[in-house]
Amino acid sequence: MIRIHIEKRLKAYNGIQVLRIEKTVTPGSILRVTGPSGAGKTTLLKMIAGLIAPDAGTIAVGDAVWYESAMKINFSPQQRQPGFVFQDYALFPNMTVLQHLQYATQDAAWITRLLAIGQLQTFAHHKPAHLSGGQQQRLAILRALAIRPRLLLMDEPFSALDVKMKTRLIADLLLVIKELNATAIIVSHNQQELDGICNDELVLGGEE
Ligand code: ADP
Ligand code: ADP
Repeated sequence: MIRIHIEKRLKAYNGIQVLRIEKTVTPGSILRVTGPSGAGKTTLLKMIAGLIAPDAGTIAVGDAVWYESAMKINFSPQQRQPGFVFQDYALFPNMTVLQHLQYATQDAAWITRLLAIGQLQTFAHHKPAHLSGGQQQRLAILRALAIRPRLLLMDEPFSALDVKMKTRLIADLLLVIKELNATAIIVSHNQQELDGICNDELVLGGEE
């Protein structure tokens, strides 16, 4: 399982500081990151994924310090990529549902199970433009799971789902996270939807 340590991480855009926090994420935990719009939730998630560099401070994921003072110093090729659910899904317009998953894994049985989890079996040959918003969001989640990540980073992953679908999906998701021995970080502005799911919390905003 993955331990993440964030030390006085600092990010500024155009000279305006948006993020300064210290946090250790315990392996196997499911961390909820909340805070008002603009608090830096997406920025934090992308920095943990290594998609954006912090301006100062360090982020350590597992044994590897990914960044130190904006300089990428150790990004081990052996390190498994995190699963990332982008807020805007970031799907491939020319790939079908099935192709999205095949791009991430060769394991046909795993793909079958993922399609069932996302209730997308009958949409396997649809491209994103022919999926509803909720179906697209489920595909984004399935694609993140397909690589069997040890670290799952999700940005408002349930925003387009109705309550019934959300409840069912979350139950499956919790099982998969456990099976994968993964650590999960979920960004949400809606605390209630994650009640009883997360066992740790980071609240952004309101810090100096
Ligand atoms: P949240 O996800 O909590 O809404 P974000 O991480 O998206 O917050 O953004 C934090 C702050 O940083 C916001 O004020 C936002 O406008 C700003 N910001 C985010 N990305 C950029 C960027 N690439 N360039 C300039 N400012 C940005
Ligand atoms: P989200 O939080 O919805 O995933 P982003 O992280 O892309 O979206 O952006 C969050 C906020 O940061 C938005 O208000 C957006 O306008 C602002 N932002 C994003 N990129 C830039 C940028 N390059 N320059 C200025 N502001 C940006």
